[in-house]
Amino acid sequence: MASNDKCIKALRKNNMTDTADKLSPFYDVIVGGGGLGGLTAANILARNGLKVLLAEHHSQLGGLATWFRRKNHIFDVALHGFPSGMKKTLRKYWSKEMADRIIQVKSVRFDNPQFSLDTSFTKEDFTRILVTKFGVEKETVDAFYKELDSMNYYDNSTMTNRELFDKYFPGRNDVVRLLMEPITYANGSTLDEPAITYGIVFSNFMNKGVFTFLGGTDLMLDMMRKELCANKADIATRAEITRAVIRDGKITGAIINGREIRCNALISNGNLMSTVFDWAGKEHFSPDFIEKTEKVRLNNSSCQVYIGLKKGEKFDFIGDLLFTSEHPVFSPEAIVSNNVTSRTFSVYYPEIRPGSDDYTVVASMNARYEDWANMQKTKYDEAKKNLIIDTLRVLDKYIPGIEAKIDYTEAATPKTFERYTLHRKGASFGTKFEGLQISMELSQQIKGLYHTGSVGIIMSGWLGAANYGVITANSTEKYLLNIN
Ligand SMILES: Cc1cc2nc3c(=O)[nH]c(=O)nc-3n(C[C@H](O)[C@H](O)[C@H](O)COP(=O)(O)OP(=O)(O)OC[C@H]3O[C@@H](n4cnc5c(N)ncnc54)[C@H](O)[C@@H]3O)c2cc1C
Repeated sequence: MASNDKCIKALRKNNMTDTADKLSPFYDVIVGGGGLGGLTAANILARNGLKVLLAEHHSQLGGLATWFRRKNHIFDVALHGFPSGMKKTLRKYWSKEMADRIIQVKSVRFDNPQFSLDTSFTKEDFTRILVTKFGVEKETVDAFYKELDSMNYYDNSTMTNRELFDKYFPGRNDVVRLLMEPITYANGSTLDEPAITYGIVFSNFMNKGVFTFLGGTDLMLDMMRKELCANKADIATRAEITRAVIRDGKITGAIINGREIRCNALISNGNLMSTVFDWAGKEHFSPDFIEKTEKVRLNNSSCQVYIGLKKGEKFDFIGDLLFTSEHPVFSPEAIVSNNVTSRTFSVYYPEIRPGSDDYTVVASMNARYEDWANMQKTKYDEAKKNLIIDTLRVLDKYIPGIEAKIDYTEAATPKTFERYTLHRKGASFGTKFEGLQISMELSQQIKGLYHTGSVGIIMSGWLGAANYGVITANSTEKYLLNIN
């Protein structure tokens, strides 16, 4: 994504002296991290007239929702689909032009030993499938939805997903698979998570269909970058925040590539634990807050296989999103196992980037960092190779002869995610539920310190992360108005 915009500053890591003059010595807000939460928070604050610096450690914006180019292919890391609510979020907090690019995907397919079906991913279609294919009473389905609709984050319910499903669909692992597997893929949820997280995510995600961005992630991020520049935000890439500067319990700056830049507020879009323990340091928080933070569980990580077709090769429409599994039953444990049995295939036809003739497929697998972190180099390389081979074996079922059609494959592991996003343990879906409270209460501990991005399962995914960016921008702005 070549850029001539003056607001983009690619800094040299560990040596900012030669480029420091390009940044101001002071900003109202520094946003650390250019994921969808950080980008959205930065845009709102800049649009409202605040002096904003967005500092991103990587050379490219987007975080987990980024893209990369290899050979003549563009690969989208996380453009598999998002809820319809993203349209409103883009229109309100970015631009109408961006919102107008949101289109519905045509078909979502499930294929596993328990069932094979296509769905439009709407509540009506899930009802149809549950009643006609799975033989569930319509009243039971309606009662289940009613309970989901009545769920509220502020309720103090202790019900787990397992208890929720047992209440409505006892003994029906196939039904649970249909209703839960996409959410497990999308945010790492298990049956032991609070049902409230499922209720909120289901109501957003599996309700009005699955949507995508016409033009791909590269275009979307380019439009976001331009919008930020138009709103006079400074953007520094290759700019890593290593420390928050805190004086008298208040944020006064951030250390970026070893140099202090002053600010009144700091928003972290990075890993929640790194924000508390590395950026700030435990000594700045109450013992009770630290005790709670130490108990926050990180979510799992991911593996991916990127596949590009030779120029001129094509395949017929096989669906946009395929939830495939060879595991006999639904099991969140099996989904993260490195004996991979379950994959989501995102299929990108040339129409996603009008004018292009590129076909790509991205396979995503949930994964455990521990399974990959300590492998010897040769074993690691071998495991990546096997991941590709096995993915192609499964894909061949949907695109016969795929291997002869392709000219590029690459694999990413939890270590790749850790390296590019700095998320501890390559956590690709933030933290489990308890992380949300810690994230939201940071500013009660250190004035001017905020967090946005995937936490608590609820704030995960494109919509969750972007909307959390809005919430965090509003809190930050309120704080800044009061101190000025
Ligand atoms: C394989 C995969 C597929 C997915 N598919 C979908 C999907 O189809 N639909 C959907 O809705 N969601 C999907 N998601 C989830 C979604 O992409 C994420 O929830 C969302 O993009 C996270 O945004 P975020 O704001 O939390 O920031 P992140 O994407 O986590 O970005 C954080 C940013 O902060 C930067 N950073 C970290 N530390 C520092 C530092 N110290 N200094 C400077 N910068 C720093 C990182 O480099 C990164 O750019 C997927 C995720 C994965 C992993």
